[in-house]
Parts: sequence; structure tokens; C-alpha cells
Amino acid sequence: IKENPAEPEFHQAVKEVLDSLRVVVDANEKAFRRDALLERLVNPERQIKFRVPWIDDNGQVHVNTGYRVQFNSAIGPYKGGLRLHPSVNLGIIKFLGFEQIFKNSLTGLPIGGGKGGSNFDPKGKSDREIMAFCQSFMLELYKYVGADTDVPAGDIGTGAREIGYMFGQYKRIRGLFEGVLTGKGLSYGGSLARTEATGYGLLYITEEMLKCNGHNVEGKTVTVSGSGNVAIYAIEKAEQMGAKVVTCSDSDGWVYDSDGIDVAALKEIKEVKRQRLTEYKKYRPNSEYHKGKGVWAVKSDIALPCATQNELDLENAKLLVKNGVIAVCEGANMPTTLEATEYLQANGVLFLPGKAANAGGVATSALEMSQNSERLHWSFEKVDARLKQIMIDLFHNLDAAAKKYGMDHNYVAGANIAGFEKVVDAMTAQGIV
Ligand code: NDP
Repeated sequence: IKENPAEPEFHQAVKEVLDSLRVVVDANEKAFRRDALLERLVNPERQIKFRVPWIDDNGQVHVNTGYRVQFNSAIGPYKGGLRLHPSVNLGIIKFLGFEQIFKNSLTGLPIGGGKGGSNFDPKGKSDREIMAFCQSFMLELYKYVGADTDVPAGDIGTGAREIGYMFGQYKRIRGLFEGVLTGKGLSYGGSLARTEATGYGLLYITEEMLKCNGHNVEGKTVTVSGSGNVAIYAIEKAEQMGAKVVTCSDSDGWVYDSDGIDVAALKEIKEVKRQRLTEYKKYRPNSEYHKGKGVWAVKSDIALPCATQNELDLENAKLLVKNGVIAVCEGANMPTTLEATEYLQANGVLFLPGKAANAGGVATSALEMSQNSERLHWSFEKVDARLKQIMIDLFHNLDAAAKKYGMDHNYVAGANIAGFEKVVDAMTAQGIV
């Protein structure tokens, strides 16, 4: 904290991980101290910060800040998304990069942890303005990324359109058609099922966890926050599994639809027309739109926070418990505050942290890297089946790690320990670097 003040999200992520790791570190204290393993783990290998100037449609120049934090490459090339949102700062990118190390390790695939982005706000910008920003961003970022070095992907504010503009610019500068980014369009090296992967993966692992605890998704009432990539495909898969999803939200307000969210309408509003959720009522006149926050006050069996960090606090957790929630599974990164997580766990709620629950996105990105390397395209069914198996295996790995250290049902500890063991093993084998 002394070395990196004003990075509260990063401190929060580190505290959660280090608290879980205490048992592992205590068992090997001498080696950890001698090799300064934890000090190396919490210090990024490299952090890059750069200027991104771009010109709007009126000829006005704007200057944003770009970031890429290359956190840990012990088990593979850095991998992690690019967030475009006005709230982005170094602390947020570091928290996301740190989480990414463990998440990527948990997938069982050879990918290290990194994250990047900018405080650029894509909302309300024309396609040309988005392209101008993305090209300027890549004009600097290209120096640090590559198919075997660092392979960024999408995140909040970065979808297929932004990835396309960045890929085009990288190819123009480097003269290389290579898998430097994932989440690409299908016509130029993207993978089928990548768009759906995070949301679908969230439901695959939720179902596995529920099954192991005597429940399932079918017939349950589900609350979802967010209405972006993760939320949309979480809603779609939950409904395919026979659940009823009654909410979604954006940063202005939220929707309650007692008949179940109409996912086709949601896609039309968010993906095709790029509009706000206020439009939803036009498609479903019986639904309700409320300004502000309120999703977690709605009674549900399963809660899936899929918007952003710290959106589910202690008060929300108390409401969820009061309303009888069985499970909370994080689609977003760190959407639940530490106090809320502890409260949910203390009250017997099954809680799956984002680094496990939303790992389906990066896992499928790694499958996109494999397809790019072998210059092949896999079918939707093949990718989806691999994704499902990865999420099932992931749950059993973290469940086993929690049990091994006497913390049965503590899936936060299980995820942190299982992700950590592989990374630390690789770091130790590679010497003091
Ligand atoms: P999108 O940009 O597609 O959607 C984000 C959603 O969250 C929007 O509904 C947005 O509303 C809302 N949101 C964003 N910031 C805020 C805020 N400060 N307050 C309230 N609502 C907000 O992003 P994704 O769906 O891709 O990402 C959602 C979460 O999932 C993030 O935490 C991301 O890191 C995580 N994640 C995403 C993966 C992926 O594959 N896409 C993979 C793993 C994790 P509005 O439109 O009003 O901004």
C-alpha cells in the first residue's frame, strides 16, 4: 500500500488472494521468504502507460491514457482484455491483471496474466471516432504485444468492432497476420462461441457447483446485473437451462420482467442498435424500468453479477440472504465487495468468485489462439463442448483444493489456491526472474 497508494481495487484483490493463501504459505514459509515469492507475485513484470491522442468528428483533438500491465508470464504469454471506460486507471488495470494470473492458471491452459485499456469512453462516439481511437491506441501498443508475447482481448467497452479496428492497425504496422488479439470477427481468425463463452461458461460452472450441492439451474429464478456481453449470454444460457431470469441493468437503471427477460429483444437493443435499457419496455410493455440500482433487492434463487467491480455490497448481500438466495456466481470481475463475500459465505450461500466463474471467456480465447496457430476453424459444437468441459474440470479443481486445505465449500480459497499452486511451481522452476 505504501509503494502503490491510491490503488484500492488492486489492494482489495491482493488482500483476498493473500488471505486465502495463508495456509499454503505457512506450510512452506522458509522457501517463500527465501525466494520472495509473494513479493514477486504482487509486482507486475512490466507496466506500460502511454498517451493516446485522437481527433473527433469536429476536428477537436482529445488525449486519453493507455495502459498495458504485463503481470506474470510464468505459465505462458500474457493474456487478458482491454477495458475502455472512463473509470480506468492504473490501479483498476492492476487489479484486473492480478486476478487474470489465477484465472488463466485455473483454465488449465498455458496463458499468463495481463490486462490493459484506457480511460476513453466509447459511449456516444461515432464509428469513425472509435476507429481513430483504436488506431492511435494500437500505434503504441503494437510495440509490446504479439502472438507469442502478449495477446489482448475484449472487456468492458471493447467488443468485436474495437478488436477489428485494432487488429487492422496491428497488421498494417507489423505486416503480420497473426493471432495478436482474440475476440476477432469470424471472417479474419475469430473463434465460434467466443462471443457466448463467458456467459455460457458462467452457467456451466454454476450448474456443476449446484449439482454437487444437491441443486440445479432448472426451474430457478435468477437475477442478473449488467446488459453487456457477459450478461446477455448468461441470460441466454440460464433460460436454455430452464431458469427464469427476471432482471438486467446498465449504469443508468434496471429492468424487471416477471415473465423472464426476452433475450432476443435485449440483443437487438444492446448489440444491434447500441441503445439504452429504457428501450426494453417498447418490446415488453409489461416489464418495469427503474432508474438507479435495485437488482439485488429482487427475490431470486441465484444471483449473477455481470456488470462491474464492487457492484454488490454488504447491504445487497443482506437483501439476497433475506430473500433466500442459494448461490451467487460472479460473471464480472470482483463485483462483490470483501465484506459482502464474507457475509454470503457465513450465511451458507454458495459463492463462486469471478476468477473461476467467468474464466470461460479467456479459456475460449486460448482456444482461438490454438485455432490461429494451426490455421484451422473449429465448429461451434467443438468449441462449446471444450468450454463446458473446461468449466466442469475447473470447478472440481478448486473444490479439491479447498478440501485439501480443510476449507470445504470455500470456493474463494479453493480458486486462489488452485490457481496459485501452478503459477508458483512454474516461477520456482524458472529461477529468480
Ligand atoms: P460490456 O461493456 O459488454 O458490458 C458491461 C455492462 O456493465 C454494461 O451493461 C454496463 O452498463 C455495465 N457497467 C459497466 N461499468 C459500470 C459501472 N461503473 N456501473 C454500473 N454498470 C456498469 O462488458 P462485459 O460484459 O464484457 O464485461 C462485464 C464484466 O465481466 C467486467 O467486469 C469484465 O471485466 C468481466 N469479464 C468479461 C469477459 C468477457 O469475455 N467479455 C471475460 C471475463 C470477465 P453501461 O452500458 O451503462 O456502461
